[in-house]
Amino acid sequence: MAKSPSDSFFQTVENLGQCLQSHLSNFLQRIDSHRKSDPSLSFNQEKLSSSSSATVADDPINLPPLLVKQDQSAKPSTKEEVGRATWTLLHTIAAQLPERPTKQQKRDVKELMAILSRIYPCKECADHFKEVLKANPVQAASQAEFSQWLCHVHNVVNRSLGKPAFLCNRVDARWGKLDCQDRACDLQGIDTFLDK
Ligand code: FAD
Repeated sequence: MAKSPSDSFFQTVENLGQCLQSHLSNFLQRIDSHRKSDPSLSFNQEKLSSSSSATVADDPINLPPLLVKQDQSAKPSTKEEVGRATWTLLHTIAAQLPERPTKQQKRDVKELMAILSRIYPCKECADHFKEVLKANPVQAASQAEFSQWLCHVHNVVNRSLGKPAFLCNRVDARWGKLDCQDRACDLQGIDTFLDK
């Protein structure tokens, strides 16, 4: 007997349902094996505890399950940690700058410093850095000039915190260019790009 249009429709819906169920099942199996191989990954317990003893597999309505990296030692960063990370970023930017930066790159580093002096996540540091910038306008005509300028202003901050000054003739030894395969991290300067 020929199938009616409604039979075909219901058949299609059933096929779709089976397909979806099979994908969901594969997905859950992959997550479960991933979780077993890395015990620090576990399902969000808070979400699961609200659904009594049911497992995620029993309860696809709660999908997708939230995977969280449970790091018991995770806590907010301190002012010192953020400071070290920021100096690392800044000195690395200085080291990576092409010997002859483009006009855009010179503008970018100046703007980066101005932005930091406004949104650095420690108000007293940001306010102090604004003063430091006023007294020491950014110098970034070349890579060498910018890294020396940065070393100088870092020393101004060091001194204000009672820390010893860093010898700026050692800045290239401390903060060299990134060691990337095939120089893939290198930025282009005005020797390789039209100055914009
Ligand atoms: P950091 O000063 O963080 O230096 C990291 C590393 O850089 C050092 O270990 C050393 O190897 C190297 N280094 C040190 N000096 C230089 C230099 N002159 N040139 C090149 N490399 C150097 N903290 C406050 O409490 N008050 C503030 O007002 C304040 N202002 C800040 C403003 C800015 C823009 C930034 C980025 C940070 C500021 N901080 C401030 C944080 C502070 O400067 C330090 O980062 C923090 O106290 C941790 O210090 P540290 O001794 O670990 O070394």
